[in-house]
Amino acid sequence: MSSPIRQAGEENRGFHEIFMDRLKKHIDEYHVPYVPELLRHFSDASSTPRKLRLYQFWEGNNVFFFRGHMICGPDPRGFLLTAFSIVLSAWIFYTYSTDSQMVSFAAVFLAACVLGSLTMVGARDPGILPRNKNTGRLEEETASKRVIDVNGVEIKQKYCNICMISRPPRSCHCTICNNCVEKFDHHCPWIGQCIGLRNYRYYIMFVFFALMFFTYILIFSWRKAESLLSENEYRFFPTLADAPETMAVLLFSSVSAFFLGGFAIFHSYLLTRNQTSRENYKQRYRNCLNSHDKGFLMNIKEALFQKLPPSGVNFREEVRAETQS
Ligand SMILES: [Zn+2]
Ligand SMILES: [Zn+2]
Repeated sequence: MSSPIRQAGEENRGFHEIFMDRLKKHIDEYHVPYVPELLRHFSDASSTPRKLRLYQFWEGNNVFFFRGHMICGPDPRGFLLTAFSIVLSAWIFYTYSTDSQMVSFAAVFLAACVLGSLTMVGARDPGILPRNKNTGRLEEETASKRVIDVNGVEIKQKYCNICMISRPPRSCHCTICNNCVEKFDHHCPWIGQCIGLRNYRYYIMFVFFALMFFTYILIFSWRKAESLLSENEYRFFPTLADAPETMAVLLFSSVSAFFLGGFAIFHSYLLTRNQTSRENYKQRYRNCLNSHDKGFLMNIKEALFQKLPPSGVNFREEVRAETQS
């Protein structure tokens, strides 16, 4: 039989808050192992030690910018390539594919929305769970008994041997980032970041803004290409020679809009059913009830409008170096 799933004082709280409180009880304080080279690196020549922050020693593969305020995935090439393709498409469209200033400005505005949402997805904590540095063995022993109540359905928590925590339902250890991420959806190579609880809505915004942007430039590039084709008596190669930039942006926007349309439909389906991509891929709810499904409108509200929980890890937290023994 299972152990009690809600303890005193936990009756009216969501499973996210209950889980984070329980987890933090097992993690007293982060300690940095004594590594003389690292300590020298983070100290001044004047021997006045600089503050050591958690992000400087984080064991995940993330890359941090702005002293731990910006958290990216381990490989920023996908993010940079995506941003570059948006900027280049907007620039070619602005310069070559339309004569109307209004049409150009609208394209630039949409491109800015795409880049803004891309930054929100790629440079933000996706929901990384704290690691347990102190009580791993104890956690492992009690992990098999841990269950959590999700809308009346008891779900057993799984144990992560790398982060040494009993992680909450729907979370998963991303092998690329080397972190457990809450409500893990997938690791997106085009953004170079995990998609999880804290950046999923920005990912949806990114997909829809990018779809609008590429559909917009596709429509106006097509109108420009059509008028050029009629001038060249509908011969393709003379038109290509006349306006290679417009034809290139037309081809690229067609392919992008096609794939983004597919993503938008797929994620709209998942969002309204409160499923993650991983749960859908693993057919988690094929033969059982999805206890997270709260109905069409509530699922949309939860995914897009509900207040996001604060980051589970304070990457700018000061850490203490353990003394050499
Ligand atoms: Zn993990
Ligand atoms: Zn990841």
